[in-house]
Amino acid sequence: MENTDQQHHRAVTQIQRLIQRENDFLISSHVNPDGDSIASILVFTSILRHMGKSYRILLDDDVPEKLDFMAGIGEIQRYDGSLPSLNPRVLIVLDSSNLERIGRVAEIVTDGVEIINIDHHPSNEGFGSHNLVLGKESSTVEIVYDLFTAMNVPLSPDIAALVYTGILCDTGRFLFPNTTSRSLEICSEMVKHGASPDIIAKKLYFRMSHETAKALSAALSTLEFHFDGTVSCIHLSNGAVSSINDIDTEGFVDYLLAIDGTEVEFLMVEKEPGLFRISFRSKSRVDVNDVAKNFGGGGHTRASGCTLQGTVGEVKEKILNVLKAYL
Ligand code: 5GP
Ligand code: MN
Repeated sequence: MENTDQQHHRAVTQIQRLIQRENDFLISSHVNPDGDSIASILVFTSILRHMGKSYRILLDDDVPEKLDFMAGIGEIQRYDGSLPSLNPRVLIVLDSSNLERIGRVAEIVTDGVEIINIDHHPSNEGFGSHNLVLGKESSTVEIVYDLFTAMNVPLSPDIAALVYTGILCDTGRFLFPNTTSRSLEICSEMVKHGASPDIIAKKLYFRMSHETAKALSAALSTLEFHFDGTVSCIHLSNGAVSSINDIDTEGFVDYLLAIDGTEVEFLMVEKEPGLFRISFRSKSRVDVNDVAKNFGGGGHTRASGCTLQGTVGEVKEKILNVLKAYL
């Protein structure tokens, strides 16, 4: 019986062989892309480019504007639902715990297409032909960077900035418990190779649009506490802002983490009338990956998400009813 290290080693070898052998690759990642998913994609494509391979990147979503500074971002195409005129033999799925997370891009997968699944979600379903899933890594880009190094691809300032950005985003600016000494070591190495913490922080965190700032203010004004202050929640209704899809709500829920005494925090964003995207966070005890699974979602122990239908009152009730059992 192979141990976990041997399984990982074998997956890495198989992925390297597949990259060497094949020529046409399709790369995708989850809807609602974030710094880690985009960094993973762009670092992975740098390996393919170095090897002289053809590839295409398709996402079933738009890339958020705040990630527009990431080198190579222009190569990412939005999948419009029509089958592309390419015959990929390999699909690379990054940072996604299941195949449904890549949305309609999964439709392109036909029999015989090999799937490389690289991820750091402990909830990953192992849906690939080759699965490189390391649940303790801070980010998927950390795993892709190891592959990049193993394949002797030269490190440029652009790649260094991508790796740094992915790790910075997924560790919540080096604040979450997934911040390991290794993720800090890699980031230190990236700074030595040209990543600028100052420029990256300005791009990511210090250019909120006026609409998003107003939406943040509206969301925070809905703050409620439940179960003796152990749970806090906020919401943003569809009607509260002029165009909800122009609002970047990433990070809103993290403001609740600053509040004393709460264990679980959640944000409800009404993306369409009656349809809410939920973001869960927890501080130390409650496994919110498990909580989100009750609603068909998932993620990590301390950060997860799901989608729910109903009015804001109904959605909140559904969540509180489930949370009751976890506190
Ligand atoms: P966020 O609240 O930042 O959108 O998501 C937190 C974490 O949960 C991320 O790692 C994200 O990938 C994961 N996540 C969010 N929504 C879902 C979902 O609907 N399904 C699954 N499996 N994971 C999700
Ligand atoms: Mn990630």
